[in-house]
Amino acid sequence: MRITVLRLSHRPERDKRITTHVCLVARAFGADKVIYTGIRDRKLEESIKKIVKRWGGKFSIKYTRSWREVIQRWKNSEGVVVHLTMYGINLPDIMDRIRNAKKDILIVVGSEKVPSEMYQLADFNVAVGNQPHSEVAALAVFLDWYFEGKELRKGFGNARLKIVPQKRGKKVTILSK
Ligand code: SAM
Repeated sequence: MRITVLRLSHRPERDKRITTHVCLVARAFGADKVIYTGIRDRKLEESIKKIVKRWGGKFSIKYTRSWREVIQRWKNSEGVVVHLTMYGINLPDIMDRIRNAKKDILIVVGSEKVPSEMYQLADFNVAVGNQPHSEVAALAVFLDWYFEGKELRKGFGNARLKIVPQKRGKKVTILSK
């Protein structure tokens, strides 16, 4: 199953760290790609590409102007659209239906106010608890529930660096330069 994250309305000044964290969480927790809209930010793209080169895997980042087009294309290719919002159906009450759909998933996360149309276009409006918090936390918890924790053991091919887990201190193996 392919998992792509759509990050809405990126603003380099305000959202630099948050969008970076959305990408890092997406990659580390099993998604294949982030598409972002708003203002194009080449520094963000470069920093994510560097992470992938160093730490491996096939994760990619792409900018696009129109979130509607991304959603339309996704729906045309039979994938499901999951919009993470505190107003949605609480995750424990909907995850089985999402998993049982056995379809590619586009996970949409907002930043500023999300257009009301998004709530209509989504196949599932999903709350990670019905309280306000963060797109980074919502994405992490959603992916962890989706993969049932297995994503934490995922391997990342072609990595230059690999961490050797330690009880204390840091150990990193350099696999290639
Ligand atoms: N005020 C914005 C709105 O009206 O949609 C939400 C801002 S919130 C800081 C940014 C994003 O975090 C949301 O668009 C949503 O994707 C995510 N988010 C925050 N709390 C959430 C929750 N409880 N469940 C799921 N997603 C959540």
